[in-house]
Amino acid sequence: MTNELLLKKELFQGKPVYDYRGTMLDVSRHFFGVDEVRRLLDVMYRLRLNKFHWHFSDDQGFRIALKNYPKLEEIASKRSFTAYGGFLKKKFRDNTPYAGFYTEEEVRSIVSYATERGIEVIPELSMPGHSSALVAAYPELSCSGEKIEVPGDFGVMDNVLCIGNDDVMRFMDKLLHTLVDLFEAKTFHIDFDEVRLTHLKTCPKCQAKMKELGTARVEDLKLYAKNFFRDSLKKQGLEVILYNDGMEEADTSVVCFHWDSRDKLGERTVQWINEGQQTIIANCEYLYMDYPYVWTPLKKTYSFNPVLKGVAKPENIIGVEAPLWTESVEGHPKLAFNAYYRLAALAEIGWFGEKRRPYKEFIKRLRENEEYFFGEKLNIPDRILNPNLFRRLRMTKKSLMQDMNCEFREVEKFYFSKV
Ligand SMILES: [Zn+2]
Repeated sequence: MTNELLLKKELFQGKPVYDYRGTMLDVSRHFFGVDEVRRLLDVMYRLRLNKFHWHFSDDQGFRIALKNYPKLEEIASKRSFTAYGGFLKKKFRDNTPYAGFYTEEEVRSIVSYATERGIEVIPELSMPGHSSALVAAYPELSCSGEKIEVPGDFGVMDNVLCIGNDDVMRFMDKLLHTLVDLFEAKTFHIDFDEVRLTHLKTCPKCQAKMKELGTARVEDLKLYAKNFFRDSLKKQGLEVILYNDGMEEADTSVVCFHWDSRDKLGERTVQWINEGQQTIIANCEYLYMDYPYVWTPLKKTYSFNPVLKGVAKPENIIGVEAPLWTESVEGHPKLAFNAYYRLAALAEIGWFGEKRRPYKEFIKRLRENEEYFFGEKLNIPDRILNPNLFRRLRMTKKSLMQDMNCEFREVEKFYFSKV
């Protein structure tokens, strides 16, 4: 490695509190090329973050062109439009065709770039929900078999995989292992969140499989599919990660990725942790980096305590992660604006835990070392990072209903002209 990547070891001394200190990049909703990914890995390296969770497949695009699956590049990597607007309501449409993918060689080169920096790449294959792009390329994977387009709209969709069909399970298993080999993965994220079960309830193949399994609950069919892929990966010695909202009490031997504390989900995760289930903490209201600062000020992120209320066995919390979903994040300046300072906050939480320094010292040190950490000086002012109540009220509604980028639009011409 070059000299410029020499670490300032004095910034993170001793041993980290958490072994897993990660970030996620969603390249499906908006694509980020090899150079941008490398740039992010450099930032992670200097912040001593060591897990890169790569979300390359979702409804709006599958971003790896696998040689044995030509339709992934041909069909699944492209869409005809992209919706935009507020977080809850995207009422506008950009009709510019959108496309992007990594070749197998590019994936290998990024994995080796990460490995050189002590960063493990954790691939995520979205299934059986968030699979529209895959279904657009291979319609036989869904219950109906109908041909669909890769959607440019966002949200939870109906196009789930037909997990009652043995051929679909074999196809997905083969795809999964192709990806395991490509990434030389030791850990794999298989998603299972936000799975609409509507089609499975009426699909003859799914119904027949439920009969075979001796159950009338469609959730049991989902559990069967989870266990199938879990066992298939575990047999090869991999660790398996699942999103907490897609998990049930019967899920075992997987790592829980806790992002969603709504309803009773937080309590359920606490129960899992206390029963010995390894868990990664990524609470959306503190650590989701796509959220504007008017929702999640930097101070709020920095104040986050990963030891959820009621946890009696904190040793089962293996780490923390800050994900970057990209429905409203396109291009480097927006990525840097949303993510870099928050990654610096996450790095402190992950390394120092409860012993992290007060916020004032953190932000002072961050500003002194910005160029070292990020390779550029962003200089985002405090009034943006920690907005006052008036600004929060004004911009929150706007970002929810009209424009997720309103905060960024306001600052980009002043602070991002040189980025
Ligand atoms: Zn089905």
